[in-house]
Amino acid sequence: MKIMFRHIFAGYRCSKCSETCERHNGTSFTKLHLIIGLVFALAFAIRLFCPPWELQWYYFFGIYAGELLLFFISGLSFSFFSGGMVHRCKNCKAPMMFCGRYFKYEDKPWPEDHAIFIIHAVLNVVIWLNLARLLAS
Ligand SMILES: [Zn+2]
Repeated sequence: MKIMFRHIFAGYRCSKCSETCERHNGTSFTKLHLIIGLVFALAFAIRLFCPPWELQWYYFFGIYAGELLLFFISGLSFSFFSGGMVHRCKNCKAPMMFCGRYFKYEDKPWPEDHAIFIIHAVLNVVIWLNLARLLAS
């Protein structure tokens, strides 16, 4: 299985000349996120299926959904900083028109991809530490 990273780009076109430009709009979900979320969910579930919690097997689906939600939270902060509006053409200073968004596949991860995985891992550690503190009390 080839691992691909998917990014969202927004295209803009000048309203007078034919100048075009694109802006990075954020990262998108891939199979790699599903696999990493599954690994974290399995580790989390194994702990929660043991005493003192002893949760039923079907709680795994909720735990997995929580892991995917953590990926969403990890990437959410980047969506505020990436992209941005393109107002004027760099050649003729005419207004740029938004033409739509599209996916672009990359073989290698961007720094943003690494940051999302790190934030996801940190959020998991925070949850595990809070769970351990809850069990100790
Ligand atoms: Zn122009």
